Amino acid sequence: MGGTDPKRAFRVDRVSDRLHFVHTEHVNWVVYSGPDGVTLIDSGYAGQRDLLAASLDAIGCRPDDVSAVLVTHGHADHLGGAVWLAERFGTPVHAHATEVPNVQRTLVQQAGPVDVLRNAWRPGVVPWVTAILPLLEGRPHPAVATVAPLPERGGRVDVPGMPRAIHVGGHTTGHTAFSFEEEGVLVVGDAFVTRHRTSPLAGPHLLPSMFHHDLARARDSLVRLRNTPARVVLPGHGEAWIGPADAAVDVASETGAPW
Ligand SMILES: [Zn+2]
Ligand SMILES: [Zn+2]
Repeated sequence: MGGTDPKRAFRVDRVSDRLHFVHTEHVNWVVYSGPDGVTLIDSGYAGQRDLLAASLDAIGCRPDDVSAVLVTHGHADHLGGAVWLAERFGTPVHAHATEVPNVQRTLVQQAGPVDVLRNAWRPGVVPWVTAILPLLEGRPHPAVATVAPLPERGGRVDVPGMPRAIHVGGHTTGHTAFSFEEEGVLVVGDAFVTRHRTSPLAGPHLLPSMFHHDLARARDSLVRLRNTPARVVLPGHGEAWIGPADAAVDVASETGAPW
């Protein structure tokens, strides 16, 4: 779907039998839909609530069909829909145990106004912040009070799709990627991205430094994303990577962050 209103514009790509990549101008999310249920991975900004519902509708499910939400990390652009689903439908929300404080917002490891002002001279920063401010709906720190650690069964996350969790700390302390091994799809959140308004780069790379809690650790952690069977990589920002995940990890590691 096209359009210039960021609250409306989205595109759904079916990247495997059961996984759907929902791409918007500023952030992405992923829907697993199978006979075992529906899992949402990340959930957009608070102001993208209607867009989230529309994307679920496009896939053929309703918001209350979502069995669980997995959040890669507790940043406002990934948490908005999780707050809504938890409050409205009591949907369980899960994150890595070390990320729970970021999702509850008892800990904030997110770029703030000072970081943005310090970097406002860089191309793309002012247009980016101007575009995303309305999507925050006045709440730069949305929180999911009920978030629980990832439920584990047999080395997998015990939600529909049964992904394998891969802890890739650095962007935030408990940032986690999810490997849907039977689907051949790796959901990497902000471990690396393929495009962002504040970055001059395209293709796999790390977000600009102000977005990372610990950039050096984020870069070192990329090795943990190697050796999955994935042939599709879905980042939190930018287009999908179609090809072996290890090749995307190589490019992201070599490229690093633009600034
Ligand atoms: Zn982030
Ligand atoms: Zn993000």
